[in-house]
Order: sequence, then C-alpha cells, then structure tokens
Amino acid sequence: MKLNKVTVDDLNVKGKRVLVRCDFNVPLKDGVITNDNRITAALPTIKKLIADGGKVILCSHLGKPKNGPEEKFSLAPVAVRLSELLGKEVVFANDDEVVGENAKKAVAEMNDGDVVLLQNTRFRKEETKNLEPFSSELASLADIFVMDAFGSAHRAHCSTAGVTDHIKNTAVGYLMQKEIDYLGNAVENPVRPFVAILGGAKVADKLNVISNLLEKCDTLIIGGGMAYTFLKAQGKEVGLSLVDDTKIDYCKEMMEKAEKLGKKLLLPIDTTIAAGFPDPIDAPIDVKVVDANNIPADMEGLDIGTKTQELFADAVKNAKTVVWNGPMGVFENPTLAKGTIAVAKALAETDATTIIGGGDSAAAVIQLGFADKMSHISTGGGASLEYLEGKTLPGIAVIADK
Ligand code: ATP
Repeated sequence: MKLNKVTVDDLNVKGKRVLVRCDFNVPLKDGVITNDNRITAALPTIKKLIADGGKVILCSHLGKPKNGPEEKFSLAPVAVRLSELLGKEVVFANDDEVVGENAKKAVAEMNDGDVVLLQNTRFRKEETKNLEPFSSELASLADIFVMDAFGSAHRAHCSTAGVTDHIKNTAVGYLMQKEIDYLGNAVENPVRPFVAILGGAKVADKLNVISNLLEKCDTLIIGGGMAYTFLKAQGKEVGLSLVDDTKIDYCKEMMEKAEKLGKKLLLPIDTTIAAGFPDPIDAPIDVKVVDANNIPADMEGLDIGTKTQELFADAVKNAKTVVWNGPMGVFENPTLAKGTIAVAKALAETDATTIIGGGDSAAAVIQLGFADKMSHISTGGGASLEYLEGKTLPGIAVIADK
C-alpha cells in the first residue's frame, strides 16, 4: 500500500492563508537553540509556499508546558532563527492564547509571501486532548492546512488532526512526503533483501515493531539492551544484563514466528561485558568480550562483541534495504560505542537504501559522523517507530488523498 497524499506541489496558494504544522520542538539551553536541525528540515516547504505567494502561518509545539503559557517554552527564539535562515522577517505572534487578538491581528496584516509564527500550541490545554474550541480557532486563521510535522504525526492533537475537521483543503509538506516515501516504501514495498536492525534499551518498547518487521523483512537483527531478554529466552545466563522477565515468553514466540516464516533472526553471538553500568555514563570502564554462552553471573552486557559486529555487518553487506532503530550498546560511552559504530559503518558502506529511525539511533549516527552516508534519517523517533509497527499515524490519515 503506497500512500498517495496531496502535497504542497498540488496546491494553489497564491493569496491564500496557509497554516503549516511544523516540528519546531528544538532543544533549548538558557533560551538558546542548541540544534536547529528541525528548523532547517522545515525550510523547503516554507520556501515553496513563500515563492508561490501564500500567506504562511506556522505553528508548532515546543517542550511540555504543563499549565498553559510558560516563558521558557516560548517559540520566540525559533522565530529569530527562522528569520535568519530564510533571510526574511518572520513575525512572531506572541499570544498566550495562541489564537488570541495578537495572532489574529498579525494574520490580518499579512501580505502574500509573508510569514507569521504562532506561539507554542501547547500553551492551550485543549491541544494534547484534541478538544474544541482550539481546533476551530486555529482553523479560523487559514484557508489551507499543510501538515509537515512528522515528529508529531503519531499524536492526534488539535494542531495535527483536529484542525482538519474545519479545513478541508489539506496537504502534506515536503518533509512529511520524504518520511512517508522512505519509511513507507521500506516497510510496505522494500527492495529485497530487506534487513531490519533493532536495538536500544527495552524489548517492551518495541514489541509491535519486532512482530511487524518480522513479517516484512528478510532478516531481523537484534542488538542493544533488548537482545539479552532474547538470549535469556534461549536459556542462556545473562548475568546482570538488562532483562525483562515478563517478556521472555514473547521473545520465544518471536523466535518461533521467525522460524515459521522462514526469516533470519540474528542475535549477538558474543558480548562486551563490564562489572556494572558506567557511572557517569561516559566514565572510563574496564570491559572484556565473551561468547554469548559465557556471560558470568556477576557481569553486565553493555555492547555487542567483535564477532557479532562482523556477523551483523555481513548481514547488511548484500542488503538492498536496511532500516535501523536503536543503538547496539551504551553508545554514550566511547568504550561501549564500538558495536554501534560498526553497524553505522556497515550501513555507510553498503549500496542499500539505508533508513535510520529517529531518536537515539539518529543521534548516534549523527554524533559518530555517518549522517551524510545514510539515505534517510527520520526526524521522528516515536513517529517512525509507530510507522514501523505498521500503525496508521493520525497526522497522516487526516490529510486528503490525491
Ligand atoms: P528512541 O525511542 O528515542 O528512538 P531508541 O529506540 O533509539 O530511542 P532506546 O530504546 O531509547 O533507543 O534506547 C537507547 C538507550 O539504550 C541508550 O541510551 C543506550 O545507552 C541504551 N542501551 C543500549 N544497549 C544497552 C545495554 N546493553 N544495556 C543497557 N542499556 C543499553
């Protein structure tokens, strides 16, 4: 099933008010943006709408304000950065009600090609509950709604879903389109062999991802903290490693499922162990590599081992599509980042289409310097995971089909 949504290329926005839901949820330290990737990722859609003579009204959430407006969650710094990046004034409609008098006035004064940024949508308590009147108030500002916040598309909020109860002229932006093309194609229509790699801390976070990807891929690789529950399910001693005893049966089920479907399920054959979790996380640590059959009861597995690095890299070599979510070990520590680096390197060297799920795996790939070697790095951690689970994301579902 290929998604075929109306995109900004299909719109006629000249002289129209276009509300664009962006993902401007950027990291801030003392009011300063420490990483503006999410703002840069939104530029293509914004530039296109400006060039076509639309009145571009941007909205986004930022952080998790609990009880309405809070200065530290203001989008004001984003307006400044966005102005710099666009080389054009972005009017910040500072308004505690988001769609109050200030916002209405700013929008009423817009000329074609102007840009207004609304205040943090989560300053309104209705936002995360998808309640009125905020959805209709947002809709009252615009003629067209463009969804370009992939990182928020797994949430049905006023600004990602509710607003489309009132605006029927809808489209996805370029960023959304790219995410749908890469993630959607990889899962629904992959060029084979399709190898999926899962890591990260907990099995419980990825139950449905494991099950869905087993059906779709040819080889499923499991590393990271979640691998030890699988190893324990195979009857192995895993010592002090991260284990979820409530998921042992689930892991057994998945191993049976793989066998039944004739899919390869690769688990670590050796592991990097230490006396305990590093504290602080990047502290120097004594490690050694042991076979997965030989983890001492008083040691903790914190990364895949060297033979596993080769095994996983080998599995990726002849792949045509690779999707990766979750680090192979405690990559925040240089000594325990080797497995994650080896997998990143293998992906960088393969000819396959390589897709990195958001969150920690994206952070690891960027931090380790492999970003420009990947076909696509998703901007949404939670959203990309739900996509890989095979779920329909509300923020995509509400947008009109072609
Ligand atoms: P996100 O859900 O944000 O996309 P992710 O899926 O990439 O993140 P998480 O499930 O959040 O990954 O897990 C990442 C964390 O798992 C990292 O902080 C890493 O240190 C930790 N981790 C990896 N391997 C181990 C291990 N063997 N033991 C304990 N923790 C581990």
